[in-house]
Amino acid sequence: MRIGIGYDIHRLRRNRPMILGGVNLDYFKGPDGHSDGDALIHAICDALLGAMAKGDIGMLFPDTDARYKNMPSTEFLKKVNCLLKEENFKICNLDCTIILQEPKIEPYRVKIIQSINEILGLPERRINLKAKTSERLGNIGKGRAFAAHAAVLITAR
Ligand code: MG
Repeated sequence: MRIGIGYDIHRLRRNRPMILGGVNLDYFKGPDGHSDGDALIHAICDALLGAMAKGDIGMLFPDTDARYKNMPSTEFLKKVNCLLKEENFKICNLDCTIILQEPKIEPYRVKIIQSINEILGLPERRINLKAKTSERLGNIGKGRAFAAHAAVLITAR
C-alpha cells in the first residue's frame, strides 16, 4: 500500500467560472489559473502522483505549455488515472478537504463526489469530501483564494 497527499491553492477572481471537483458552482468569482484552476482536482492529482512517486501535476502538465491553457482539470485527473492503471495500482480511498469562505459547499457536495467517482471509477463510499471556512482569516478568509487538500491510499491491483 502507498499513501499520497496533495495540496493546492488558487486566487479567486471576478468573472471566472467557479469550478470545484469538475462541478460548476454558482458564484460571482472563480479560480484564476492557466487551466480552469480547479484546486480540488489539482490536489487529488498530486496526491495520486505522490503515492505513485511520479512527481507532481506541474511536471506532467506544465503551465508554460499552451496546450493546457483553460483546459478542464478533469482532463488532468483522467490522465493521472490512466497512469495509475498503467502502473497497476487501484485506489483504496480518497479523503479531501476544501478550504474556502464562500460559497457553501454543502449543496454541491454530492455532485462533487459523483464527479470524482465518474472520473476515477472509485465508488462514492470510498470518497470523502470535507469543507471548511478559514474563519474570515487571511486571504482565504477574505475570499481572495481557496485551497484544497487530498489524501489517498493506493494498492496493487
Ligand atoms: Mg493548481
